[in-house]
Amino acid sequence: MNTTKNDSNFFRILQEPIPLLNKKMRDHRHLTALMFMMSALLASTEWIWDYITDPSGAQNTIELRLMFLGLLAYPFIFKQIKNRRIIEFIAVTSGLIATIVFVEILNRLHNGISQGLGIFIYLLFLPLLMFQGLSLRINLISTFLYAATPQVLALFGLVPHFPYNQYAAMIWPAAIVLMITHYIFAQNYRRRYELEQALELASNTDSMTGLSNRRHFIPVLRNEIVRGHRFRHSVSLMILDIDNFKAINDAHGHPTGDLVICTLAEICRKTARQLDVIARLGGEEFAILVINAPLQNALIAAERIRAAVANTQLTNFDGFEFSFTVSIGVAEQPKENDSEELLINLADAALYQAKGAGRNCVMASTPTCIKPLATYMNELQQG
Ligand code: GH3
Ligand code: MG
Ligand code: MG
Repeated sequence: MNTTKNDSNFFRILQEPIPLLNKKMRDHRHLTALMFMMSALLASTEWIWDYITDPSGAQNTIELRLMFLGLLAYPFIFKQIKNRRIIEFIAVTSGLIATIVFVEILNRLHNGISQGLGIFIYLLFLPLLMFQGLSLRINLISTFLYAATPQVLALFGLVPHFPYNQYAAMIWPAAIVLMITHYIFAQNYRRRYELEQALELASNTDSMTGLSNRRHFIPVLRNEIVRGHRFRHSVSLMILDIDNFKAINDAHGHPTGDLVICTLAEICRKTARQLDVIARLGGEEFAILVINAPLQNALIAAERIRAAVANTQLTNFDGFEFSFTVSIGVAEQPKENDSEELLINLADAALYQAKGAGRNCVMASTPTCIKPLATYMNELQQG
């Protein structure tokens, strides 16, 4: 319970995890690109402001105002660059350059710095829209940087008649408010992100066993078949079904049946390789997608699971000791076919044969017919 309290503290929000940052950037890509283009147009057409405040001085600001049009290139640059850190660097640096150019524009106007002072606040507000896709840390740093830059330039004597007090009184309260706003926006985004993650996990997982459910498994299988064909590696599937499960339920009750399902899930998890995807397709039927394994290897894995299940002794809630068995059908995706339905049907047909052959066994679906594991292995050995 205490963790939820700590979860919302200031420092946790500052440490945004990398997947969140990547998603944040992807989510705001278009907004960032659009805002860069708008800012380019806005900052260059603000030349009208220069003209109104000082018509003759405005002659000297034209080339500086045109420099802002360089921001029009950013949407295209962002399209090419995929690295988040480089995008962050470019975004923050261009904001900094824009601030410096703006200071120089005011320098070139008569009374420019006192007339244009308020626009520095406006410059601080822009990142709130432009940098939504960037991390909170970057947003806090850039707000501070943009607020401090004119002051620092003035300290170096680069801004004549800089109104220190007016600037400080105007900018720093605004900067603090904006930093708090950035923080709130980041916190909001994080809450939404975590909720999305939780929903995604819940919709992909079978709640009883914690394995993938059918909804998640089928697209993964489809994807793996396509990848397997492209990269020339085999994809095999086993379908497992608990033997006489109805009898276990009827004799000992549903809680015992559930215990059996969870035990099978645990055995599959322990026995399968880390890359393999295990799913509960429904009821007492499971599937394991064996990645990068030809039929022969998948059969060996299936036999290991079958034996582990048969050798497991369970004690139910009434203290009754018992064991159970599974039948397994195994198939390899045919090279010339991309359909996951076909692979499921092949494995299912082998499973059906395993049931017919007396259960507690593994059957292989070969291109010509369905064979018991032992027959298949013998034939392989004899070449
Ligand atoms: P076979 O060896 O041919 O597979 O026989 P079986 O009894 O295992 O097969 P059948 O498909 O007839 O029985 C499946 C049973 O699984 C029926 C259903 O009541 C039970 N079942 C399905 N989902 C659950 C569950 O989540 N928990 C429990 N306890 N039982 C379930
Ligand atoms: Mg069954
Ligand atoms: Mg069944």
